[in-house]
Amino acid sequence: MSEIIVPTPFEKKTADAVVIGGGIVGASTAFWLSKAGLKVILVEKRDALSSLTTAASVECFRTQFTEKAMADLALPSVEMFENFKDIVGLPDIDIGITQKGYLFVTDEPDRVPDLEKAIKQYDKLGIPGSELISGPDLHKRFPFLAPRALAATFNNRDGWISTHETTYGFAKGSKDVQFFIRTRVTGINLDSNGICGVETDKGTLHTRLVVNCAGPYAGSVGEMAGLDMPLRTVRRQKAFIRTSRKGVPPNAPFTVDLENHAYWRPEAGGVICAWVDPDEPDSPPSDELATDWDFAAESIYRVSRLNPFFETIADELKAEDVDVSAGQYVYTPDDKPVIGPCDEINGFHLNCGYWCGVMMSPEAGKRVADIVTGRMDNKDNPLRYSRFKEGDVEKGDTFLK
Ligand SMILES: Cc1cc2nc3c(=O)[nH]c(=O)nc-3n(C[C@H](O)[C@H](O)[C@H](O)COP(=O)(O)OP(=O)(O)OC[C@H]3O[C@@H](n4cnc5c(N)ncnc54)[C@H](O)[C@@H]3O)c2cc1C
Repeated sequence: MSEIIVPTPFEKKTADAVVIGGGIVGASTAFWLSKAGLKVILVEKRDALSSLTTAASVECFRTQFTEKAMADLALPSVEMFENFKDIVGLPDIDIGITQKGYLFVTDEPDRVPDLEKAIKQYDKLGIPGSELISGPDLHKRFPFLAPRALAATFNNRDGWISTHETTYGFAKGSKDVQFFIRTRVTGINLDSNGICGVETDKGTLHTRLVVNCAGPYAGSVGEMAGLDMPLRTVRRQKAFIRTSRKGVPPNAPFTVDLENHAYWRPEAGGVICAWVDPDEPDSPPSDELATDWDFAAESIYRVSRLNPFFETIADELKAEDVDVSAGQYVYTPDDKPVIGPCDEINGFHLNCGYWCGVMMSPEAGKRVADIVTGRMDNKDNPLRYSRFKEGDVEKGDTFLK
């Protein structure tokens, strides 16, 4: 039986595996390790699971990835979102899956070959259902787009979920996991065989297996084990805008302007819009990120270019209808996550380095468990940590990251 508790101080406890971090990635990892028969303790410093980066996300998932290593995580993860009740064994759980697609749009003729190339790559990777849509067909199917929109890639299987329900679904569906909230990891103990325990502010956890799922703090947790991981943390913001305007197309997909990195999607009671600023500097991991006073205005301005109905939203906007929040993307040298053991420290496993951890979390957690139980050889895992020292590091050309 699993439980989510604030533990009373203890001298020592023992687990087969300790998962550090109670975001969606940690919850999925704990779920899959417990399904593989391990007794797991997950440690989360905050008051609740799913309360840091996972809560800051736009909650979207997609199949449209041009890199095989990413598609191999994304596709099975979408399947798991689609079959979540069966996966976690909870017939009543509702993760609010909404599959209205991802639409990557351009108005730049020079960009169209990139879209054609992406579609060919999706076909090659066996990603079903991706379409290149252009000209009058594009405007017929997505009449909210500005006349200048030229072409788009679209996959109607893509969409969004409730990350809160999904994280708690993994937790409630776990077999033998203790989820310790309000418990901070302060150190990692090593002996001549590698990992031997985890120090927390509530007591010591004895274990030979640790999985680092600490999101933006994964680098700090790595340092506790003596590992200097090549991770960068970058603030990303989003704006929720309350509006009941009739002009907002309620069935629109997650729509991305490829020319200015802006995106939007419908959300209950309004819209979410944002943009990914390529010049945003790195910032240290933080639970208290400030937001920019003009982020919502800048995002609306940017999405308006290809989605002109936003101009009317802007005209009637009141400050109390706008909520801006922020979290941090984590980037690795090749913009792909790190999953699996690190050779340097026996028993120290990683599941971190995400800018897209929501959509990858189901299969990424399963991969950790598959490697731990020997079902997958880490040599066959393209996201292994050793790729950085092996020099197998290539940035892909997936849109919007
Ligand atoms: C604006 C924005 C939009 C995004 N949109 C999307 C999207 O649409 N789709 C998508 O896939 N991704 C999106 N992302 C990225 C996504 O949110 C993250 O990749 C994902 O949430 C990472 O999950 P996680 O569990 O690794 O991290 P987190 O949710 O941050 O969880 C890590 C946890 O570790 C805990 N922790 C850290 N250190 C310690 C310690 N010492 N002791 C105990 N606990 C500790 C933290 O408190 C935290 O709860 C977005 C991010 C942002 C900021």
